[in-house]
Amino acid sequence: MRIVVTGAAGFVGSHVCDNLLARGDEVVGLDNLCTGTLENIEHLSSHAGFRFIHHDVTEPVQVSGHIDAVMHLASPASPKDYLRMPIETMRVGSLGTLHTLALAEANGARYLLASTSEVYGDPQVHPQPEGYWGHVNPLGPRGVYDEAKRFAEALTMAHHRSHGVDVCISRTFNTYGPRMRPNDGRVVSTFITQAMRGMPLTVYGDGTQTRSFCYVDDQVRGIVDLLDSTHVGAVNIGNPDEFTILELADAVLEITGSTSQICFEPLPVDDPAQRRPDISLAQSALRWNPEIDLRRGLALSVAWFRTQLVGPHLRDRP
Ligand code: NAD
Ligand code: UDP
Repeated sequence: MRIVVTGAAGFVGSHVCDNLLARGDEVVGLDNLCTGTLENIEHLSSHAGFRFIHHDVTEPVQVSGHIDAVMHLASPASPKDYLRMPIETMRVGSLGTLHTLALAEANGARYLLASTSEVYGDPQVHPQPEGYWGHVNPLGPRGVYDEAKRFAEALTMAHHRSHGVDVCISRTFNTYGPRMRPNDGRVVSTFITQAMRGMPLTVYGDGTQTRSFCYVDDQVRGIVDLLDSTHVGAVNIGNPDEFTILELADAVLEITGSTSQICFEPLPVDDPAQRRPDISLAQSALRWNPEIDLRRGLALSVAWFRTQLVGPHLRDRP
């Protein structure tokens, strides 16, 4: 297959490119590098099946030659990034989705939208099945990301219903692993870098809020399985093992062997209190299950973060 991947230079997108190329697909990667980096795809620069186009997908997207599938992953994803780029986040969720859907439609290609567990907001149903409509504050700071993705989902389904585009939507739950930017502000990358630098781990609130962390290889396999399926609509892709943020901090300290302390900082506005995917649909429709538990995934991530050390220091990526 010949597949367009937007957000190809990002954390998840670069792993998606690796996965597709490894099985023999051709990949055209698009990215404007606002939160991604060419370092993530440097190893693909001489790959015959890979082409990179520096492009902002809020502008119309044209790719020459036939395309079999479009995977729209472009969007700031870390709260630190989307709070710094609120309008850009809403533009890529709306215009970016519109333009990539048009590309899929013009080619008769299957379309995958990378959505998020944030469409459930601060959920009042636990764990969250795809049928739950969510609990989102559109006026709060996180609304820019949550509502952009909710709009993107609605736009995707509208193109299916009105124009017959073959669509699917992955609702990704907190994913971590190699190639996260050490300074991206997400909890796993932040705790690992703080532990490696001997700095206090910054737990927001009292640390009793929960998340369910999925290792990137499991996530990418789930997204690609969804693309390969005939499923139309949204599927949760995440690891249902749920941890408090304090439990995560303890696991990171143990795995890094760090003696860092834990310090407490204010909880961000509208920070969801709990989050865990109901993955029954992924299990039945895709035969997908996560395979890498938190401790193994953290160990693999720490090993990668160690390769980013320059002397005793961890360098920040661009
Ligand atoms: P990331 O920030 O590492 O990657 C996003 C990529 O999109 C970056 O390379 C960025 O430069 C690119 N991009 C952003 N706006 C663009 C635009 N207008 N035009 C072209 N490129 C643009 O984030 P990630 O964690 O890899 O997330 C990838 C996708 O998965 C996002 O859509 C995100 O919403 C979704 N997602 C990720 C997680 C997670 O835990 N990692 C959770 C839920 C959803
Ligand atoms: N968090 C934290 N310390 C940090 C960064 C994040 O305690 O340095 C918390 C954050 O408040 C949230 C959870 O960790 O409750 C996950 O945050 P992240 O930004 O990784 O993802 P989110 O699920 O909020 O999108």
